Amino acid sequence: MISSAVCQPALDQFMEEIQSGADTPHSKGPRMTHNDKYLEIWKLQKAYPTPNGSPAVIVEDFTLNVAEGEFVSVIGHSGCGKSTVLSMIAGLSQPTGGGIVLAGREIVDAGPDRGVVFQAPCLLPWMTALQNVTLGVEQVAPGKSRAEQREVAAHYLELVGLGDSLDVHPNQLSGGMRQRVGIARAFALSPKMLLLDEPFGMLDSLTRLELQQVLIDLWASDRKTALMITHDVDEALFLSDRIVMMTNGPAARVGEILEVTLPRPRDRQTVFEHPDYEQLRGRLMSFLEERANHPPLPAQPSGHEHHLPTMTAAAVNSSKSLRRSLSRSFLRLSGFSNRVT
Ligand code: ADP
Repeated sequence: MISSAVCQPALDQFMEEIQSGADTPHSKGPRMTHNDKYLEIWKLQKAYPTPNGSPAVIVEDFTLNVAEGEFVSVIGHSGCGKSTVLSMIAGLSQPTGGGIVLAGREIVDAGPDRGVVFQAPCLLPWMTALQNVTLGVEQVAPGKSRAEQREVAAHYLELVGLGDSLDVHPNQLSGGMRQRVGIARAFALSPKMLLLDEPFGMLDSLTRLELQQVLIDLWASDRKTALMITHDVDEALFLSDRIVMMTNGPAARVGEILEVTLPRPRDRQTVFEHPDYEQLRGRLMSFLEERANHPPLPAQPSGHEHHLPTMTAAAVNSSKSLRRSLSRSFLRLSGFSNRVT
């Protein structure tokens, strides 16, 4: 059984060693120290071959810089190419044009220097929560003792609120708890950056709100550079420093970028009550509504008049009253009931 108390200086040193030795075989090129372009995405293109020989261009000329320690969300209509961009940053899919550089090294493959959180965390069912997270730590710190690796894993599981469930198997965990394990695993890798692909998309509304808070608290303590795909405007506003709005496909690219001026540290109540909130939300909504009036064309060569189903603005925009009501429920559950009107 692992002690839940982790010696902080030892943990800090451990993390430093992992980060300074983050030269994975998956990366190449010189190291860079310039922070404003920690992640550089330059003229990214993804096209798929089609039977008639004319490629279907999903993403084109997608250019974006992310600063070290920044939290950026990418929002856009369903099918516009958000996950396509993220999978290229994760190294799971190869660009057909342009390039991606992370911390001065070109991304050419998948690697543990990027902690990826998907909608469902893909846990090994025969392993406990602790073993699942430790498995990732072993990858990035093979030279450390088993006990040290387990301590790091336990530390992050405690931070996501699973300190009492270290020895529990995935089938005994709720969906929200499994996703907490997935988040702990991504942070425990001490990656250069976090990539989150609609991480709360499969959770019920209250669990989703709860886990957004878990994520923002964890992120605030680690300040990992993060890129998150979402179609939820409130989630994007709550978590992000900037929100990238993608145009509809085909050949989707960066449309607008919104600076989220809301102060940190953030909690839901102060964010919702902030005088800038509605204006920022309005900007996102009008971008999405404008795009909803111009649904994406199919990812097929030109000449095919077939429209893909697109998310309507109404679907994106959970009504103000529903949002407020969910927020109230969440705050009530979190012990804020006397502050909610
Ligand atoms: P989003 O994440 O914005 O919902 P995706 O990145 O998942 O969108 O998909 C963008 C587009 O790429 C969709 O039109 C999808 O059909 C198309 N696409 C994804 N994978 C392939 C593939 N292997 N071949 C052809 N088209 C694909």
